[in-house]
Amino acid sequence: MTKAMAKIGIIGGGFSGIGCAYYLKDLAKDKKNEITILENNDRVGGLASGIKNPAWEWPIDRVIHHWFMGEPYAVSIAKEIGMGDKLIFRTTKSSCYYKGKTAELDSAWSALKFPFLSLAQRIRMGAVMAMLRIDKNYLRYENETAFSFIKRTMGKGVFEMMWEPLFVGKFGKHAPEVNAAWFWSRVHPRTKTLVYIEGGFQTYADRVADVIRENNGKIFLNTSIKKIIKKGKCFEVYTDSKKFIFDILVLAVPLHFALKLFEFPYEYTKKYEQLKSIGAQYFVLELKKSFLSDGTYWLNVNDASFPFMMVAEHTNFVSKKHYDGHHMIWVGKYLDKTNPLWNMPEKKFLEIIIPYLRKINPAFDKSWIIDSFFTRFDNAQPVMPLGYSKKIPSVKTPIDNLYLATMNHIYPSDRGTNYALGLGYKIAQIIKKDLL
Ligand SMILES: Cc1cc2nc3c(=O)[nH]c(=O)nc-3n(C[C@H](O)[C@H](O)[C@H](O)COP(=O)(O)OP(=O)(O)OC[C@H]3O[C@@H](n4cnc5c(N)ncnc54)[C@H](O)[C@@H]3O)c2cc1C
Repeated sequence: MTKAMAKIGIIGGGFSGIGCAYYLKDLAKDKKNEITILENNDRVGGLASGIKNPAWEWPIDRVIHHWFMGEPYAVSIAKEIGMGDKLIFRTTKSSCYYKGKTAELDSAWSALKFPFLSLAQRIRMGAVMAMLRIDKNYLRYENETAFSFIKRTMGKGVFEMMWEPLFVGKFGKHAPEVNAAWFWSRVHPRTKTLVYIEGGFQTYADRVADVIRENNGKIFLNTSIKKIIKKGKCFEVYTDSKKFIFDILVLAVPLHFALKLFEFPYEYTKKYEQLKSIGAQYFVLELKKSFLSDGTYWLNVNDASFPFMMVAEHTNFVSKKHYDGHHMIWVGKYLDKTNPLWNMPEKKFLEIIIPYLRKINPAFDKSWIIDSFFTRFDNAQPVMPLGYSKKIPSVKTPIDNLYLATMNHIYPSDRGTNYALGLGYKIAQIIKKDLL
């Protein structure tokens, strides 16, 4: 085998994995090299995969997904794969639920009227948010915790009403560890206009996968990798019943899985297994009636005692005609595995959230639910501690021709499909350079 005839394997068909294969596809086009994705699930897409009822025209993402304006990889790939005209741009409404009341908070005008903070607090918060939106230097924030930064700049009152419940809802007991650069990343690129795509993220991922196949790339679904061994210059990749051999390997799975699949040097594993990540559990509820009937798309629940931290009504963004005329909501929470809700059976969890949904919309009744779909993801959100930029492993591992493409590598931006595709691009460029 010469370097110009490489077998490239990618473990994981989430957006990082398909992004990497997409940007490598020209290497396989003339059949000089092989590009193979091995994916555990029955579909590509990973965290951004979707589910579909036969009566619906479109699948819906298992957990809420959209892009912000100006996310370059997602949009340019959409255009390249013939889906540019399927992008949907909408200005959406976001609100907060606090102490039994809901108020819009997504613009300077709505901030002026926001009832849960005093005028002085709103002005102070608005000024800090405006500063974060202008400032490009995220590194200056990464050595202070988000809690300390928000209290120091916005004041204790704003912290306790606005941000503490959201951080605790998202990171649970790890909330005080999160650095302020992560907070910066949630504010800096945010746009009120959001982007979706006809057919949802699953349709987009499927089309990317088709383009990879059209260029002679191979994708094996329902293929769970159990072990990887380096033999000579090659990687032997094992499922329970099959063996694949590659010259170059990309581990596009969560970092903790990658560290278990391959035996890295002890110190390397020990160093990076300390990086924490939390899970998420989400319901998609198909409803007879609109839940956020004031047109809100995204509702933050600013009450950490709720068993969910957000509700979003997808059909306040796209038409309900794509879902058999029904209203689709997501009800979601990030969870540490030590949280008692983590192992709770789906039906019991649904019973628990119903009274809380009624607190938000007292008219809501269980009889509105036509169907429910539950998803639990083990690794949904890395926790970014102080000095995180120095704690992330390089995409190039100490093992020749072995690369990592994980959500931990997305920084300072918050992990997102656009950045996962961008990570795939970065690794594809390194591999191509090495091969040429
Ligand atoms: C609640 C939530 C909301 C989000 N909202 C948005 C949003 O609005 N917009 C946005 O752009 N992004 C959003 N994201 C983030 C986005 O989904 C992720 O950043 C992105 O999908 C990460 O892709 P990935 O390929 O790195 O990881 P993953 O999606 O985790 O992909 C990893 C893949 O590896 C596979 N795998 C794991 N182990 C094995 C194995 N042993 N063998 C074979 N395959 C294996 C998995 O099945 C999976 O398909 C959200 C994520 C969550 C959890």
